Amino acid sequence: MSKWKFIEEKVQGLKDDGVYRKLPINRGPCDHVIDLDGRRVVNLSSNNYLGLATHPRVKKASRDALDRYGVGAGSVRTIVGNQDLIEELEDLLAEFKEEEAVICYQSGLNCNIGTIQAITDKGDLIISDELNHASIIDGVRLSKADKAIYKHNDMESLEGILKEKRQDYRNVFIITDGVFSMDGDLAPLPEIVKLAKQYDALTYVDDAHGSGVLGRSGRGTVDHFGLHGEIDFIIGTLSKAIGVVGGYVATKQKVKEWLLHRARPLLFSTALPPAATAATIESVKMLMESEEHTKKLWKNAEYFKKALKELGFDIGISETPITPVMIGEDAKTMEFSKALLEEGVFVSGIVFPTVPKNKGRCRVMISASHTKEDLDHAIDAFEKVGKKLGVI
Ligand SMILES: *Cc1c(COP(=O)(O)O)cnc(C)c1O
Repeated sequence: MSKWKFIEEKVQGLKDDGVYRKLPINRGPCDHVIDLDGRRVVNLSSNNYLGLATHPRVKKASRDALDRYGVGAGSVRTIVGNQDLIEELEDLLAEFKEEEAVICYQSGLNCNIGTIQAITDKGDLIISDELNHASIIDGVRLSKADKAIYKHNDMESLEGILKEKRQDYRNVFIITDGVFSMDGDLAPLPEIVKLAKQYDALTYVDDAHGSGVLGRSGRGTVDHFGLHGEIDFIIGTLSKAIGVVGGYVATKQKVKEWLLHRARPLLFSTALPPAATAATIESVKMLMESEEHTKKLWKNAEYFKKALKELGFDIGISETPITPVMIGEDAKTMEFSKALLEEGVFVSGIVFPTVPKNKGRCRVMISASHTKEDLDHAIDAFEKVGKKLGVI
């Protein structure tokens, strides 16, 4: 008997459930239309919300840095990987986010894993929304603190835990996504801040899908709610709307000093490559100069969502450009996604374990780079496939 039987059985299980898939190959840039497995298709599945991943200004900044600094940082930050570009980016992000200090990591996932572990300790309690992103869950797992989960966006559930447990712990951290990536709904930050004050807790918001999307020029969910200075840790990613790669936490200067000594991704993993850091600096500058990109994103999102609603699709409770088109059964969701591809539109089907079983959806990510023709083409494809599969 093969010693790999234990894995073979798992893979076979995926096939039996109708959710096995091969990764599609994109043979070019991540643009509004992509060359996927040799076909030109409208791309409705990237997090490149503002189209900055391919913007000429961003590419030029990256090329210039490549010539000047080479391709790799050559070391972790705490040895000799702390290139001046990273310091420049951190100062710029602090200014953009209107917070005291920013620390950059190699990705948003790294940021959550490294930050949560470093700021919490035995004798602390982490209270986490049940739908928080996987990288928060992993960060919480690595922490020595005790954990509690509250029902999604349910302030009674959160208060119940605070009331029952607050007095047993030194520090209590309330952790939530700012925008929930599977449904596009927002955390009720004003209420969370109120409870945090009432029960003397710290607040931690992962704004990966809010950064570059919500608030003035994409300053994020905290800015959207007018809560500057009220959230203790604001996480952002540089990999989504900013169009490059990396993650960061905006917080107090003294927290930065501690993280530079104890956040494990900064100590044990090589720093961001300079071409990526320079590209990010340019992207953030572009956001600070003009609201043009975020405005176009919202205009496109509103156009698309209105059309799908009018066709009779259930597009959930999204308050952002994330548009989950609810299909239901997991296998049918994958079938829907495949049929859209036949029509020249790529939307990934999202099924268990990313969302609960039979809450499958084709999650559309609208971008500022989509043209009206792209969106109309996609709307027609949704109508055709939706009727064929009996969804509308
Ligand atoms: C995407 C995402 C991350 C991970 O960001 P990367 O920079 O891609 O690693 C973290 N948190 C949330 C809420 C996300 O949506």
